[in-house]
Amino acid sequence: MHGVSVLGSTGSIGLSTLDVLSRHPERFRVVALSANHNVERLAEQCLRFKPELAVMADAQAAGRLAERLKAACPETRVLAGEEGLLEAAAHPEAQSVMAAIVGAAGLLPTLAAVRAGKRVLLANKEALVMSGQLFMDAVHAHGATLLPIDSEHNAVFQCMPTGFDQGLARVGVRRILLTGSGGPFRSLPLEQLPSVTPEQACKHPNWSMGRKISVDSATMMNKGLEVIEARWLFDAEPSRIAVVLHPQSVIHSMVEYLDGSVLAQMGQPDMRTPIAHALAWPERMDSGVSPLDLVAQGRLDFEAPDLGRFPCLGLAYEALNLGGTAMAVLNAANEIAVAAFLDGAIRFTDIAACNEAVLRACTGGQAETLEGVLAADAEARRRAGEWLKCR
Ligand code: NAD
Ligand code: MG
Repeated sequence: MHGVSVLGSTGSIGLSTLDVLSRHPERFRVVALSANHNVERLAEQCLRFKPELAVMADAQAAGRLAERLKAACPETRVLAGEEGLLEAAAHPEAQSVMAAIVGAAGLLPTLAAVRAGKRVLLANKEALVMSGQLFMDAVHAHGATLLPIDSEHNAVFQCMPTGFDQGLARVGVRRILLTGSGGPFRSLPLEQLPSVTPEQACKHPNWSMGRKISVDSATMMNKGLEVIEARWLFDAEPSRIAVVLHPQSVIHSMVEYLDGSVLAQMGQPDMRTPIAHALAWPERMDSGVSPLDLVAQGRLDFEAPDLGRFPCLGLAYEALNLGGTAMAVLNAANEIAVAAFLDGAIRFTDIAACNEAVLRACTGGQAETLEGVLAADAEARRRAGEWLKCR
């Protein structure tokens, strides 16, 4: 039995992961589950999967969970806070860890899984965006196996030749082509963008996801974060990473070779495919996703992204070129701005304006130590908070 810890088990990726795991009870065992504060959902999951460990980031919620599970599920230990999350990430009985906490809150637990030499299934792109080189150095130093869950990176991983980690040019790869749907506002008249609501922004045309990544998809900050994610996962220079809009979300990304070949990975827009791919890798197993019907699909369209409509995508390339802590700064500003937008405190177009202002204000930090990255993250959050107040 292959033990799996699921960090962020009550979220969109967490639920899809448990769905896939439940289809293969003879193969996988859930060792640990974690959530922020949704006691009801985590309690149901514990009753169903009987993990050794359940962790709530919120201490009061952990108390309520322990109360709920005391009689009904005595085999599950309940822990709270960061220490609990680190324990779930490094649990000795977990061979694989699904890193599906959203945002910077996932950095330390995901790094703990890496440092424990686990097979790390990375959904939490913000962790890698923030700490880039440091994260990849830890993967190599601790012999961890990093498998991308983000659909684009999972697609690229599937289309890469063996040995890609020795350098893309050496294995004949010219470019990585990340596809993106363009989100709900790809063709909305520009003058309407400032007044779109959080509900409209969270209504993605093809994917069902958590609220933060849904807003990121609407601004295309998500694609920007994914360009940075690809830079680290595949050791690719920024000039080798291109973004192509593909509104149908059937091609999940592509790899272009020196000889002109372009390999694409296709499938339904359902995260259970990359999740099952990474759980079973290097084998294949059923994910519960229905087959792709290309005839019913009919057509696939492509266009270039409009950086005027989606300034956040340009900011990501700018942060990559700045290097150091610029990527952590951009990520932190964006987390603050998206939360403010979801709270109704700012307009949709303020997200990009805030990100740009904070990125330009906090340059030059070194990202060689975790302390440096966390300090840049904190400073960017403070500046973003100020920007939002003074706007
Ligand atoms: P979500 O909001 O649905 O779920 C987030 C999970 O993290 C929940 O279980 C929540 O309890 C937990 N969490 C939130 N804040 C926390 C905190 N401070 N401490 C501990 N736990 C906390 O988000 P999601 O859509 O599942 O996305 C999760 C991650 O996967 C994100 O990094 C996202 O970018 C990435 N991702 C998601 C999708 C998708 O289809 N949903 C696709 C690609 C990548
Ligand atoms: Mg993605």
